[in-house]
Amino acid sequence: MTVHVVGAGLAGLSCALAAADAGMSVVLHEAAGQAGGRCRSWVEPTLGVTIDNGTHMVVGGNHEVFRYLRRIGGTDGLIAGPAAFPMLDLESGRLWTASLGRLLPSVLASAWRMAPSQDAGITRRLGASRNFHRFWEPLALAVMNTPAEDASARVFRRVLARTLWRGQAASRPFLARNGLSETFVGPALAALAVAGVTVRLHHPLRRLQRSGRLVTALDFDDGAVVLGPSDAVVLAVPWAVARQLLPELPKLPASPIVNGHFRLAVAPAKRSSGDFIGLLGGTAQWLFVRGDVVSVTVSAAAALAERSVDEIGTVLWGDIAKALGLRQAPVAQRVIKEKRATLFHSPEVEALRPAAAFGDNLLLAGDWTATGLPCTLEGALTSGVGAARQLLRRNPA
Ligand SMILES: Cc1cc2nc3c(=O)[nH]c(=O)nc-3n(C[C@H](O)[C@H](O)[C@H](O)COP(=O)(O)OP(=O)(O)OC[C@H]3O[C@@H](n4cnc5c(N)ncnc54)[C@H](O)[C@@H]3O)c2cc1C
Repeated sequence: MTVHVVGAGLAGLSCALAAADAGMSVVLHEAAGQAGGRCRSWVEPTLGVTIDNGTHMVVGGNHEVFRYLRRIGGTDGLIAGPAAFPMLDLESGRLWTASLGRLLPSVLASAWRMAPSQDAGITRRLGASRNFHRFWEPLALAVMNTPAEDASARVFRRVLARTLWRGQAASRPFLARNGLSETFVGPALAALAVAGVTVRLHHPLRRLQRSGRLVTALDFDDGAVVLGPSDAVVLAVPWAVARQLLPELPKLPASPIVNGHFRLAVAPAKRSSGDFIGLLGGTAQWLFVRGDVVSVTVSAAAALAERSVDEIGTVLWGDIAKALGLRQAPVAQRVIKEKRATLFHSPEVEALRPAAAFGDNLLLAGDWTATGLPCTLEGALTSGVGAARQLLRRNPA
């Protein structure tokens, strides 16, 4: 039996590894010249440093993330962020710390307000909370990449149940120490090589040949791979590509994320608030300082992503200069618009996310499938490992 995993994002990488660990023969096909998909790094020529497509944050309660990291060679690739988030209001200049201890009454009240019922926007469930605008709204935006009034309270509740409601350790943020690829991708490729998985980069799947519920062959540029009777396919591509290959899939709306990376002539002075600040009252929402590079993130950035990169750079730099009290101009900058960063996580869209099981020998994987979680690394890994488990159930070793 050979399993063809298509797409080497975190869903595909984790699926290929779990299937190989279960004794299956696995081939991983990736369209790009680099694995990692929406979680990747590169040396950016305009800045002369390695950057990520977007700063990714995970938290202690992301069990699949930590399980994956342990499997591919350790969690050393992560650094722990602050136990309490410094938050800065750019309009008033007010700086405070969002610590779980101080927010406990609000967190406990949220558990009650978010009790399961018909799904609705988060604002309908938590909008009356005293800390809504200063805590819940920015948190919901970061977690769901969808404005709180539109974002599914049911999905948000599931995230809270695994993180904030479990206390400090499960809520602790972590960032990639030296970039996403070094933490999440390079070690996975090394583990796949040891496990005997063939990885084919620059190998886009163009078409699935199907007969009823069965995939009979995979069409690549260098020819078709005909599937044997016990072979299987896991399609771990982004949802827009999956829909081109399987037109019966529903159309799912996307929500963009914009990141700006700014290189300074001189690294900003160390601040008591640390290298990681939540921002309110401007355009940038999270600010990260790494040496002489300052990066900012804007979630649910549909309107911003329509503007030119120069305009976006000016707006984001204005927020950075204000937040850090800088007078120097950046020596170089790079704005990255990820227009299809995640799904737009409204209750209506949640109802459309497809399950992994799709055909007799075809499974879907990816953060956009019905994991019950938002499109995140945890969601992508959950889907990848889940698809491998289904393969094992269908074809016990
Ligand atoms: C800017 C940004 C910031 C983010 N921030 C966070 C964060 O802070 N925390 C967090 O947990 N998550 C975050 N995410 C979400 C996270 O990156 C994704 O949920 C996750 O990487 C998705 O993994 P995936 O494997 O499902 O999909 P992808 O990473 O999209 O992988 C799909 C792969 O399929 C390949 N492919 C496409 N077409 C074909 C084809 N025809 N044949 C073969 N291969 C193909 C693609 O090249 C890609 O490698 C962020 C995402 C972005 C874009």
